[in-house]
Amino acid sequence: LMSLPEKAMRAIRGDRISMIFQEPMRSLSPLHRLGNQVAEVLRLHRNMGRAEAKRCVLEQFEQVGFADPVRAWRSYPFEMSGGMRQRAMIAMAMVAKPELLIADEPTTALDVTTQAQVLGLIRSLQKDTGMGVILVTHDLGVVANMAQQVVVMNKGRVMESGLAKDVLDAPAHPYTAKLFAAAPMIPQVATPARPPVRDDVILELRNVSKTYAMRAGGWRKPVTVSACQNVDLQVSRGKTLAIVGESGSGKTTCARIAMGAETPDEGGEVLFRPDKGAEPISIHNMDRTERTLFQRQAQMVFQDPYSSLSPRMRVQDALTEPMEIHGIGSAADRRDKAAEMLSWVGLDTNMLRRFPHAFSGGQRQRLSIARALTLDPRLLICDEPTSALDVSVQDQILTLLEDIRERANLSYLFISHDLAVVARIADEVAVMRAGVIVEQAPPDTLFYNPQHPYTKALIAAQPEPDINRPIDLDLVAKGAGSPQLWPEEYRFEGMQAPALRELEPGHKVRCHA
Ligand code: ADP
Ligand code: MG
Repeated sequence: LMSLPEKAMRAIRGDRISMIFQEPMRSLSPLHRLGNQVAEVLRLHRNMGRAEAKRCVLEQFEQVGFADPVRAWRSYPFEMSGGMRQRAMIAMAMVAKPELLIADEPTTALDVTTQAQVLGLIRSLQKDTGMGVILVTHDLGVVANMAQQVVVMNKGRVMESGLAKDVLDAPAHPYTAKLFAAAPMIPQVATPARPPVRDDVILELRNVSKTYAMRAGGWRKPVTVSACQNVDLQVSRGKTLAIVGESGSGKTTCARIAMGAETPDEGGEVLFRPDKGAEPISIHNMDRTERTLFQRQAQMVFQDPYSSLSPRMRVQDALTEPMEIHGIGSAADRRDKAAEMLSWVGLDTNMLRRFPHAFSGGQRQRLSIARALTLDPRLLICDEPTSALDVSVQDQILTLLEDIRERANLSYLFISHDLAVVARIADEVAVMRAGVIVEQAPPDTLFYNPQHPYTKALIAAQPEPDINRPIDLDLVAKGAGSPQLWPEEYRFEGMQAPALRELEPGHKVRCHA
């Protein structure tokens, strides 16, 4: 291929070899309707006429799972969800019936249930057409579900290659073995957990809902978005409560309300108990002293360590600033505390003079954790703290968070979209979908005996780095769709969800009696 002239290469590229990328929005034109974009491939490479191209494209749209191919034909990319755009990209790559498909992290930006559907789609199209696929991924679970052969690369070199079952069952290179050790897995659990004890609750969300009114543009009535609805949660002191759910499910909204950064709708409240047995403070009705106290005792760690640290502040200033604002200690005390916290998070104190840009992603997340710790907080609200990190770095940060929790008797409200991460760190899990908690239990109970179809779908869609535990697309399809398609006991219309019911102590499910 390298020696071919550009013209001959063009005849191969996009025709016999096609490609899909991680971020479909960048590869689709925002100005053209999807139908015309996909049809262009056929008109260029197959010299098809307008009508014939349209017929082929509609057929392809149906094959990639668009419920309404004609509507997809007329849509612009911005009118579609991430999963639908990725389907459109796949349709574009497949419509000319290539012999080889190169897919570069095709599902990395998608929710797990959408990822499962897209992977299933690539596999079934491959079976129908017999094309070869080169799949580039950082996710060993995806490898286990898709590949017959694997090549493991690190720093531009091949570390190990071979049949997927050999490499996955018995990795020979230490680098591959390390990747496996770092990959979080949903455990196969033999017994449910004991119900959580609730004698010392540090944070409590009571009947918290949040509705946003959004302008619809023009003369249309404003639309309301219900970001979360009737959320009841309790975080026990020294424990971790995790909220897990796909993008848009309302996790960040809950975190922001718990921090007092957002006010819940009428009828909801958030209570904070600084010490065991103390009178709770209502976070949205605090006087000045209570507010100052709360702002010290509850701290937040965010997903993106790049934007949560000011690029113009040296590490030392970033770490001492919160203490300065609260008027704690002398300048020398503050510097000592900053150095102490830096060593707590496993960084060297000689890094204090540096600027954040001189740190890696994992180190920056350590810095944000150190900054949160300088005020000796009791509660840490972590919103997807490891979602932007590689698996091996994620593993280190989770270990660090576990260590600090023990060391400082911290309590965590831990937010994640990844059930496997939650399986590792949480004492209790609330599964959220479209603003509503659908199931709640300790992780072992949840994995031993999941009840809600959506929880089952999330668990089934998780790609495990184990060839013997493939994704169960049937279960995904039963739970990931709209509530009207769920089994009778769970079904509901609009926002009229049934109540959460306690099935066994500590295990709640949203279902009809
Ligand atoms: P998650 O963190 O689970 O991805 P979010 O809590 O950020 O979800 O969002 C939940 C829903 O609320 C989404 O549909 C989102 O678009 C909507 N939403 C969040 N914040 C606002 C806001 N300030 N204005 C309007 N809608 C919002
Ligand atoms: Mg969020």
